[in-house]
Order: sequence, then structure tokens, then C-alpha cells
Amino acid sequence: MNQAIKDLTALLGTEKVLTDDQVLLEADGPMTRPFEKAFGYKPKFLPLCVVKAMSTEDVSKTLKYCNDNGICVITKTGATCSEDQLVIVNDHTLYLDCSGMNELIALDEYSMMATVGCGMPLARLEEIVNEKGLTTGHCPQSQPLAHLGGLCATRSIGQFSTYYGGIEDLVCGLEAVLPSGEVVRIRNVPRRAAGPDLRHLFIGSEGALAVITEVTVKLFKYYPDDFWKGAYVVNSFVEGIAALRDIITAGYRPSVVRLYDKADMDLNYGSVELAEGEACMFFVAEGPPDIARVTGENIDRIAKEHGARYAGTKIVDHWLATRNNICDTIGKEAAREEFRQTKTFYATCEISASWTEVSDIYNAVMEKLPQQIPNLTLLGGHVSHSYQTGTNIYFVYHLRANDPLQLTEVEQWELVNCLCQEVLKKSTGGAMHHHGTGKVRVKLMKQEHGSSYVLMERLKKMMDPNGIMNPGTLIPLE
Ligand SMILES: Cc1cc2nc3c(=O)[nH]c(=O)nc-3n(C[C@H](O)[C@H](O)[C@H](O)COP(=O)(O)OP(=O)(O)OC[C@H]3O[C@@H](n4cnc5c(N)ncnc54)[C@H](O)[C@@H]3O)c2cc1C
Repeated sequence: MNQAIKDLTALLGTEKVLTDDQVLLEADGPMTRPFEKAFGYKPKFLPLCVVKAMSTEDVSKTLKYCNDNGICVITKTGATCSEDQLVIVNDHTLYLDCSGMNELIALDEYSMMATVGCGMPLARLEEIVNEKGLTTGHCPQSQPLAHLGGLCATRSIGQFSTYYGGIEDLVCGLEAVLPSGEVVRIRNVPRRAAGPDLRHLFIGSEGALAVITEVTVKLFKYYPDDFWKGAYVVNSFVEGIAALRDIITAGYRPSVVRLYDKADMDLNYGSVELAEGEACMFFVAEGPPDIARVTGENIDRIAKEHGARYAGTKIVDHWLATRNNICDTIGKEAAREEFRQTKTFYATCEISASWTEVSDIYNAVMEKLPQQIPNLTLLGGHVSHSYQTGTNIYFVYHLRANDPLQLTEVEQWELVNCLCQEVLKKSTGGAMHHHGTGKVRVKLMKQEHGSSYVLMERLKKMMDPNGIMNPGTLIPLE
């Protein structure tokens, strides 16, 4: 392995191959296992080194060397992933840090496309295009920290997705490097009927198939001064889902569609008083001003047909102003201190299902989880991404850890598994709406894909025959 470091240094230059102890220890980033780290967790395996790639050529040379020499590679950009994607599972892995590949390569305002290096921070790109009256339309909660390569590789979704879509709707084309070192480019054609869509080999691949080096995303005209906003209190969460279904299936496309049950509302919006069983929903409609206005008028009509009462715009303004605040504290010492004080971990589990089945899933999870998980101290949920055929639920939970160092692999997994089993019982239930498979929920991959899982295994073998790319992600370890 010392030889590998010597060889990589000769290939790339000393400054791009980092081996300092502290760098290796912290290379998985503060957001990998944030709870365990508060209690002194150290990664089981350290990387051989961190390669700082600055170009496609650096990536290509590194992958070819690793592929020929049996060294595993975990690619990273913003290091904000939440499903253990950056956890190393053996003693012969290096991190390929692509955050330095952060240039704006092209901005085509006429055809509404921006091409960037995979390390371009999303917040920076959004700032650049906002100055031109445009937006990427992609606003995950991690927007202040995540980069385009990771966003693409985790099949991420933003808070305004009901209007703009997820990253899969936004990526026009990309460049990627295969484990062999070959560079492939998918050109930015508006649409093509030339076989299966090859973009999808990379979108959602979680660094387990290839390294994405360049991404081209769509741009949209931005009308932030003409947002229509409104909040409503509705009799129950299930009634709220029915209202959302009627809004979406009628053809309206607000950008923000959120529905909170009382537990989640109390957690986030203490100032709004909901009676037991009530729920709160709120919306933003955007786009050209007349479209936003008409969308808003019809949301108002349909909400009231479902017995909802108008609750003003204060909740929406509060949400818009604070929606990404967690990025200021996550992984920092203050958050770790809070974990030490409370021994309580908070996290989310995001699922999806058809309009027909989603309410049954919500009811089953809310009834069964408290019975199955004794150290659950809070359970609630909200809907935040809706589609023509169904929606998602973002379950939120607090879990008091018995053994903080075993939290992710034992106690959290038990909870997530119980919850997801309720989802996977349903024919339209999806256990991974966003955040990806990582190394924990990956255990559900066979169930999630059913008879088509065999294609995932063959895809991995075809693209990464030596199994060097992020082992344990996408395909569970034996
Ligand atoms: C506070 C917080 C809020 C979040 N909110 C959202 C949200 O609203 N929506 C959402 O979808 N996700 C969300 N996430 C999850 C996470 O931010 C996203 O998954 C994001 O896309 C990760 O981007 P990143 O640059 O940080 O990638 P990283 O964490 O660096 O990497 C993520 C994965 O992609 C792979 N990868 C990274 N770069 C490349 C590349 N160039 N080529 C190939 N593979 C690569 C890595 O190997 C890893 O498997 C949130 C996370 C946090 C911590």
C-alpha cells in the first residue's frame, strides 16, 4: 500500500496525494455518523490517502491505477450524504476528493443550460444564475453545502421539486470516468429516442459505478417577487393528503407543497397551535406571475373544499427563511454537545407511495412503530414532494440511544427496517424516496427492486467488474 501512495504521487504530484494522519481521520467529513462522533466514534478503516483531483485527467489516471491494482475508491464532493455512503468497508480504499473541480465551464442563457465541474457548490451556481434572473430550480435542504457531482450521484431532490422536478429532470448531459479510466460524455441533446437513457447509469449511482466529472443542468426564468404563498389548517393528515391529491391531479403545479402532522409541526413551528389530529399544509406557487396567481387561487378553492381554514402566509415566510438553517450546525461541536446531553438522535426516513396507498402507510407506521421501537421518543411526518401518481412522506423521529456507538448499525437500522417493511408491503411503496441507498438502507435493495434487482447486480458487474467503486453501496456486501 505504501507502493500505491508512491505510484499515485508519481502519477499526480505530491500536492494531490494527502496522507497526513489528521486528514485521513477526518476525511469522511463531519456529517458521516454525526451522532456517534459526539461519543468518540472513530472510523473502523482509514483511507490509504486522499487524492485531490483537479481535472478529468486526474480522475482518469487515479481510477485506472486503482482498477489495475485492486484499490477501492470512494468519490466525494460536498460530503453531506446521510446514508453512510462515505463509510469505508475495507483496508484498501482511498477517497477521491473532486471538490476542487468547481469551475463554471459554460453558461448558455439562450438555451437555458449551465455546465459545471462536479465540485461546483450548488449555492455558488445558484448565486451566479440568480444574478442573470435565472434559477437552477434545485434547492435541497443541503443546498448551502452540497456540490453538483454528489447531488447527481445521489439522485437528489429539492424543496421546490413539484414544479421543477428532481435532479433526474434537470440534468441534460454529463461527462464521467469509468473505473478503467475511459472518459465518456453524454451530449446535451434536448431529448433522444436512441435506446435507454444513459444519463440514468450515472444519476443515482452513488459513486459505485463511475465518477461524474462534469454536469450540465437546465436553467429556468426566476420570479421570486411574484411567489403566491398560503397556509391552511386541515382536520387531519389524511384529509390533507386528499387535498394535495386533488390539487396535483387537477393539473396545478405549485413549487412547494408541504403537509405536516401535529408532531412534526410542533417540532418545527411551535407558534402554530394545532388541535390533536389536525394538520397544516402550505404552498408556494411560482413561475410567470399570472400562472402563480391562478395556481394559488385554485389551491385556495380546493383546500377549502376539503374543509381547510386559511392560516395566512406567516408560516410559509418562516419556512422560506429558515428551511436550510440546519446546515449551520450539523456536524459542529454545538450539535455534538446537544447529542451528549440528550443521548437522543434525530433523523428522517423518506418514502413514497401512490395516492391510493400512502395514507394507509402513514397510519400503519404511526400505529406500529411506537409498539416496535421502545426507545422512540418522537414520531411524526410531513409530505414535501408530490407527483401526478402519488407523494412522499418524510417521517421524522427521535431515538434515545442505548449504545450511542452502535446507533446507526443497530438501533437506527432496526427502526428504519420496521418502518420500511410497512412501506414495502404495499405494491406502490418505495423505501428510498431520496438520500440514496448508502450502506444501511442498501440492505433493502433486493426487496425494493424485486425481480428487477438482478439488473442492478449485472449493471454493477458490467460497469465496475473489479468491484473497486464504493463497495457496499448500491449492492450490499455479501
Ligand atoms: C442537512 C442535510 C439536508 C439534506 N437535504 C437533502 C434534500 O433536501 N434532498 C436530497 O436529495 N438530499 C438531501 N441531503 C443529502 C445530501 O445532501 C445529498 O444527497 C447531496 O446530494 C450530496 O451531495 P454532496 O456533494 O455532499 O455529495 P457527497 O456527500 O460528497 O457524496 C454523496 C454520494 O455521491 C457520490 N459522489 C460524490 N461526488 C461524486 C462524483 N463526482 N461522481 C460520482 N459519485 C459521486 C459519493 O461517493 C457518495 O456516494 C441532505 C443532507 C444533509 C446533511
